[in-house]
Amino acid sequence: MLQSLKDSQIMDNEIKELMTPHEKVAHVQLNNPLDHALLVLIKSGYTTIPVLDTEYKVRGQISKAQILDSILGIERIEMERLHDYKVEDVMNGKVPRMNKNETFGKALMLSINHPFVCIEDDDGSFIGLMTRRSILALIHRHLSHSS
Ligand code: AMP
Repeated sequence: MLQSLKDSQIMDNEIKELMTPHEKVAHVQLNNPLDHALLVLIKSGYTTIPVLDTEYKVRGQISKAQILDSILGIERIEMERLHDYKVEDVMNGKVPRMNKNETFGKALMLSINHPFVCIEDDDGSFIGLMTRRSILALIHRHLSHSS
């Protein structure tokens, strides 16, 4: 099986062919209040989404769990605090990322620990996402064609 993946040169596939383009990616900005971020997360249906700055550079990722955790009081969830915090106060600044010209092999390696990888242009601006789903789908396609 591994040999068939290597023979098919799947590892050299360019990731930009497989990514979800930025127009289709739900995201928030650093200075958005948390209530807006929660709205985007709930409406999009995703657990975690990227955080961008005003120059469209990736600055982190934010999840529903992080937002809820930040407004957890001693006895109740303090919903009124949602408007007091901004995305940058609670986001995770570490986010898996790679350049659009890097290979599928690198995306595969990053996807072991991350459900998505942010793809960047040469100037560092965000151009899309590579999801674990698209990576697995490509591997599945290659394996079924080679058997
Ligand atoms: P998937 O492999 O399709 O389940 O996607 C993995 C993760 O990538 C999701 O749980 C989201 O955190 C993120 N994701 C996928 N597609 C989008 C999108 N269009 N907008 C924002 N985040 C996304």
